[in-house]
Amino acid sequence: MNPGTSPPPARVGGVFWPHRRLAARDVGPATILVLVLAQAVLWAVVAPAGQPTGSYVGQLFGAESILLLSIGLVLISTLPWVEEWFDGIDRAAIWHRRVAITGLVLLAPHVLLSANPHGTALGGPLGAIGAIGMIALAVWAILPRWQYVVPRPLRGLVLAARDAPIARDVRRLFGGYERWRALHRTTGLFVAAGFVHGLLDGTPFDKAPLLRWTYVGIGGIGLAFYVYRELLARWLGPLHDYQVETVREIDAGLVEIAMRPLGRRVDFIPGQFAMVYLEAKDGWHRHPFTISSAPHEDVVRVTVKALGDYTERLQHLVEPGMPAVIGGPHGRFDHRRGTDRQVWIAGGVGVAPFLSWLRALDGDLPHRVDFFYSADGEAPFAEEIRGVVDRHGSLHAHLVDTSVEGRLTTERVLAATTGEAGGLSVFMCGPNGMLRTFQSQLRAAGVPARNIHREYFDWR
Ligand SMILES: Cc1cc2nc3c(=O)[nH]c(=O)nc-3n(C[C@H](O)[C@H](O)[C@H](O)COP(=O)(O)OP(=O)(O)OC[C@H]3O[C@@H](n4cnc5c(N)ncnc54)[C@H](O)[C@@H]3O)c2cc1C
Repeated sequence: MNPGTSPPPARVGGVFWPHRRLAARDVGPATILVLVLAQAVLWAVVAPAGQPTGSYVGQLFGAESILLLSIGLVLISTLPWVEEWFDGIDRAAIWHRRVAITGLVLLAPHVLLSANPHGTALGGPLGAIGAIGMIALAVWAILPRWQYVVPRPLRGLVLAARDAPIARDVRRLFGGYERWRALHRTTGLFVAAGFVHGLLDGTPFDKAPLLRWTYVGIGGIGLAFYVYRELLARWLGPLHDYQVETVREIDAGLVEIAMRPLGRRVDFIPGQFAMVYLEAKDGWHRHPFTISSAPHEDVVRVTVKALGDYTERLQHLVEPGMPAVIGGPHGRFDHRRGTDRQVWIAGGVGVAPFLSWLRALDGDLPHRVDFFYSADGEAPFAEEIRGVVDRHGSLHAHLVDTSVEGRLTTERVLAATTGEAGGLSVFMCGPNGMLRTFQSQLRAAGVPARNIHREYFDWR
């Protein structure tokens, strides 16, 4: 065990799920499932007499939609116990997206089936405002993933439409991530409109107070977390004052920023990420970056790839001496949670968490590791990585130059771990498409799902 770093978190709750212990990452999703089923059972058991079945079922869909959207608001609160239950804020962010989309899909049968001839004057319009607002924001949120939604034959059409002059103007109007994020934060207001619509126009509530108070409780909790997130989180979250020490170009489009603590240091485990607030020449920017330094270092380092508006200009925007604030740490990407036989896969800047692991290594590595790091050209940090490998017999590095050797494949990875798929742990970080391919092929090769760990760099 490396001195100075706390032991990996124990499995949450140790819930026994049919015949096996529930993995830490499954506790959160399992809780969502239990809540959704529990509400459905409640509505089935206390269904008041005289309710038309179709409309009652439609209203249940509405109540489930409010439940899922409220869970989405709780998940994005970034509170420590959310991190615990979802095994990392990055996972909670992924589930935030999943429950929100499912909640919105349930609005369709709700609208089609529900009817209240005696609806209130305010209920109907609030319902419409809520639904339209949430759907518009959700479509905007998943736009970057349009390729996963649009069938392949239609993609050419979408690309042509996207590149049409008017579409370019519309995209300029929508702006980048920051503008999207600012408007996305209004989602809670539309959830509130939908919630009040249900409260005003829900027909079973008069005869079934238990349904009403359950509904009020669910919506109330979701909106309370929304208010916490929007008004209090910035004052109550774990924030640490730092100052930019150095801004170093590592490679074309790759910059390392080192920050020195001005007060209490951030206490992190190698592999964790943080919300990094940097005051640049054009104002404050808030972005998640994985900490690539080791906990024993005097400074915190992040390694940033030019992937968009801000990161492309970072080197010109940030200078030594500028203030920084580090929020967190977050994430549960930790090789000590794996089995004795491990594979680490890094793609491009996805090397960041592995750099922190390698830099934090002190004494023998307790497991045998094959570390695959694929990059276009000579891999940044190659010398440093080879130096660490030379000092650790159980660590083997495979630096893959994709411009010469082509993309890293699952076959090549598994060839290095002959016939050990069942007992293998795989830790991956890199481009989404690459990790999705590895995930499905490793599963097909017999690597258990609970042994495949990844850090999500893309939450949207
Ligand atoms: C958990 C996590 C760890 C990460 N670690 C690293 C790292 O170590 N090194 C690195 O180079 N990159 C890392 N990233 C990605 C990095 O946060 C984005 O590349 C960066 O925020 C892009 O900002 P931009 O303004 O240049 O891009 P934009 O053009 O504004 O956005 C490009 C894409 O980056 C993402 N993004 C932008 N801003 C944010 C934000 N504030 N919060 C979340 N996502 C955002 C969005 O998906 C967006 O579609 C990490 C992301 C996450 C979620």
